[in-house]
Amino acid sequence: MSFSHDGPPVPQSSAVPQPSDSSTPQPPAVISSPNENEGVKPHRKPLLRLEIRDLSSSGTHAFLRLLHASDTISEAVDIVLSRLYTGLPRHCILPTRSVTLVLRSMPGVAYTTSKDLDDDHKEIHFSTDYINGVPEGRQKEEMRGVIVHEMVHCWQHNAYGTAPGGLIEGIADWVRLKAGLGPPHWKRRADCDWDAGYERTGFFLEYLEGQFGADVVRKINDTLREREYEEHAFWMDCCGRGVKELWEEYQRSLEEYETEAKKEEELPTDRHS
Ligand SMILES: [Zn+2]
Repeated sequence: MSFSHDGPPVPQSSAVPQPSDSSTPQPPAVISSPNENEGVKPHRKPLLRLEIRDLSSSGTHAFLRLLHASDTISEAVDIVLSRLYTGLPRHCILPTRSVTLVLRSMPGVAYTTSKDLDDDHKEIHFSTDYINGVPEGRQKEEMRGVIVHEMVHCWQHNAYGTAPGGLIEGIADWVRLKAGLGPPHWKRRADCDWDAGYERTGFFLEYLEGQFGADVVRKINDTLREREYEEHAFWMDCCGRGVKELWEEYQRSLEEYETEAKKEEELPTDRHS
């Protein structure tokens, strides 16, 4: 069975800017120091490869001009392994043996898939058209962010294919967020279900971290390794509460934050008197 987080290799818009209300106040992002887990780093050294299908495209030009490919890809592996596996035994880590980054012209942003006959060899397909469409000042960080997101799919567990897609995508964006690579248009939003995916679920996981400690996402990923997904048992094991209850708490915390922020905005100021 091939591991493909998004089902068939259909390009996913994992980083397409979405219209958002920029006036909505947002709590500050919690970006922890990269050194917080030092000393118990998990080690896997997969073979890393780069395949460029069109050297002359503008997106490829930007990639080669702005990034050191070897460093960027191996740093993405380190970021993902340290976020998902620090402190866990080596056998918990998905046995990925190679990751190939394929730069090519295609619709969408990027997707991750496995080679047909061997699940341990992953391919990240990244659209050069997408890279070309990102404003120049954002290109470098956006490319790094997308690569980290896709790299998560090369190493995360998926409950033997039974995990909700939104949780899988949320974990990928949580790692991207924690790496300090969340794009500026990302907003905390809870006017959806907990498993809406991408940064919405990613911010929810960040909230759970604040409630249950830094290891909670590692626990979630490791529980996805152990068995098939069954919602009630899964969340009771990971957080001691049902996910709907946790999501309601998160919704309330965002409402409270917005109310507080509004109150502060409305405070009379004598700055101009
Ligand atoms: Zn994804």
